[in-house]
Amino acid sequence: MNKSSDWIKTHCARMDHGGCGILVKVAANQIKAIKGDPDGYLNQGYICPKAMAAADKLNHPMRLKNPLKRIGARGQGKWQKISWNEALSIISENLLKIKKEYGARAVAFCQGMPKGLEHFVLIRLANIFGSPNVVAVQDVCHAPREISGLHTCGFYPVTDFHYPSQVVILWGSNLNATNEEGLICSLLHKQLLSGTDLIIIDPQKTEFAEKAKFWLQLKPGTDLALAIGFLQVIIQEKLYNQVFVEKFTHGFEELTRMVHRFSLTSIADITGVPEKLIQQSARCYAAAMPAALQWGNPIEHTYFAFDAARALVCLMAICGNLDVAGGNIWAHEPDILGLGQFVRADLIPDKRKNMIHAFYHTIPRLMTVPPTYFKKAVLEEIPYPVKAAYMQCTNPLLGYADSQGTYEALKKLDFLAVSDIIMTPTAALADVVLPAATQFEFDDIGHYGIGHGIILARPKVVDPPTLCRPDMMILNDLGKRLTDEKYWYQDSRGFLEAVLQPSGLSYEEFVNKGYLKGPDRFETYKSRGFKTPTGKVELVLSRAKKFNLSELPVLPADFAGFDPEYPLTLTSAKSRLFLHSSYRWLEKLRKKQPEPEVKIHPQTAKDYQINQGDMVNIETRQGCIIQRARISDIIRPGVVYADYGWWFPEKSEQELFAWQQSNYNILTTAKKVGREFGTPELKGLGCRLSPLDSMK
Ligand code: SF4
Repeated sequence: MNKSSDWIKTHCARMDHGGCGILVKVAANQIKAIKGDPDGYLNQGYICPKAMAAADKLNHPMRLKNPLKRIGARGQGKWQKISWNEALSIISENLLKIKKEYGARAVAFCQGMPKGLEHFVLIRLANIFGSPNVVAVQDVCHAPREISGLHTCGFYPVTDFHYPSQVVILWGSNLNATNEEGLICSLLHKQLLSGTDLIIIDPQKTEFAEKAKFWLQLKPGTDLALAIGFLQVIIQEKLYNQVFVEKFTHGFEELTRMVHRFSLTSIADITGVPEKLIQQSARCYAAAMPAALQWGNPIEHTYFAFDAARALVCLMAICGNLDVAGGNIWAHEPDILGLGQFVRADLIPDKRKNMIHAFYHTIPRLMTVPPTYFKKAVLEEIPYPVKAAYMQCTNPLLGYADSQGTYEALKKLDFLAVSDIIMTPTAALADVVLPAATQFEFDDIGHYGIGHGIILARPKVVDPPTLCRPDMMILNDLGKRLTDEKYWYQDSRGFLEAVLQPSGLSYEEFVNKGYLKGPDRFETYKSRGFKTPTGKVELVLSRAKKFNLSELPVLPADFAGFDPEYPLTLTSAKSRLFLHSSYRWLEKLRKKQPEPEVKIHPQTAKDYQINQGDMVNIETRQGCIIQRARISDIIRPGVVYADYGWWFPEKSEQELFAWQQSNYNILTTAKKVGREFGTPELKGLGCRLSPLDSMK
């Protein structure tokens, strides 16, 4: 354990991706205090309200402390406490039975936001078991950015805040509120103090917007059009990096023709951002060298996520900001075990052909099943039946688009096992529920496999309750029952050592270092070219035909579709207090925000006769929920910001904790999804409002 006086050094996790270095004070196996670690590589002392409340999870009355077996009907809330041996036997018997009857692919392994190594151990288990189906929400988080990057420039362009940038664009990313894939605000604030200019692209006025040189308050879901607007200004005014474009890009002429297909006036119309502001911001980004573009995951929340991500990589490229310090870099990994080896990809060579989404011809390299297609396999047996699921760190009833469809899919499964730290609406529908250990209770490695070129030490600081177990340990034990024992370790320490083995460090030595970072290498394309078929940044994709992709980013014809019956535009933003559907049960956080709130502009509120604090019906063509009105001019008229991820742990398990009442995904639909990633529409949906007078 790495100690700084009597404070133990570790890294935050599970409250989100994790990443902030923290110091934890412990006495008698109890956490007494938590504070930010000034030496934290990413946070430099910053700590958010979620982490401040993190210790409250450990002894919370809602904490699951026993394996449970369902003894009533699904969702009836009748459970029997069972031993670990019985729980693992029930799970393995059921999964093996389904494998025998329908094949291994009829078993899905589901993960929410990855928290640590558990995600990769789950993939390993699926691979060794023989199922190609690991279901994850990468369709709306990470995959469009990473995979579009790989296809366009050969790497995932990570924002570099460790070297100075002249200009930073936060494009749909509010680093004061969320740790966007391991990037929190500290390094950016430091840069702002030394004079870096900021451009904010966000439908709501964030704290960063107040400090920005330009704030572009775009309409939700119009990022692709705005990116094309930026490209147009920069190309038309010849502000791009001409040497880079000439030597290192493929398809600049075609890109030029594409962006000129639209007038800037029409782009201003679609996005709601005045032409002049688009011009000024584009000029500012193009003139800076280097400039960093921090892209948040709202750009991945529409069915044209691929085109939006592609357009932004093209923007980074033509301005010469790819692979330069202070721009968007290729983050090189330290000497650690490669992902493919860790997950034993070699044991399932036909995975790509057999994954559920192969049937839909999704983009190559998408290795997790989009939830929409998982549900179709369960409900309609397309392309083949899926009969069972093992889920960890996930709450699909709240987290997947189209919650009603998710409910039906979960109910239809022949067998469902869930590992979690409390009873969630999803766990309440399971056959077996396992009590997981939480972040402070086991040794882990953070940031493995997310492409940021860094791994973080997360040593355990206290023991878990007697019967709670780390997910890695559960999977290691399940693996021994489901597959050949030779693939598994004596205990889960084996996974940590395997990852670190190439570095030559033991886990203890790694903990003493705190983190491992890959080498800084910039502008490697100058000697080796880009890792694409043409060796250049592919503004036009050379393999577009082969993979049935669009050659260039495309603005869909129905982009600015307007539904007169649902004339308002619905969106949501990540909370500073909660992670997706997690932690409404932690009193410290809930006190700060007791109820879900929908932000409405004063003019819209007036039009719909809604007063501050009214309970409001929010309705789309898909469904209706209620949230408390907060009238605010930080958003534009006509835009509605509903809170995401709400359920009510204080309500009864028999009503599944009122999972429908205020759940944003009751409003979303998976009827139309992007072909590349199966991404549904989560942002920019048509909606309408009405007051719910009786509930004031
Ligand atoms: S931003 Fe995330 S990693 Fe950082 S302290 Fe908060 S919850 Fe932890």
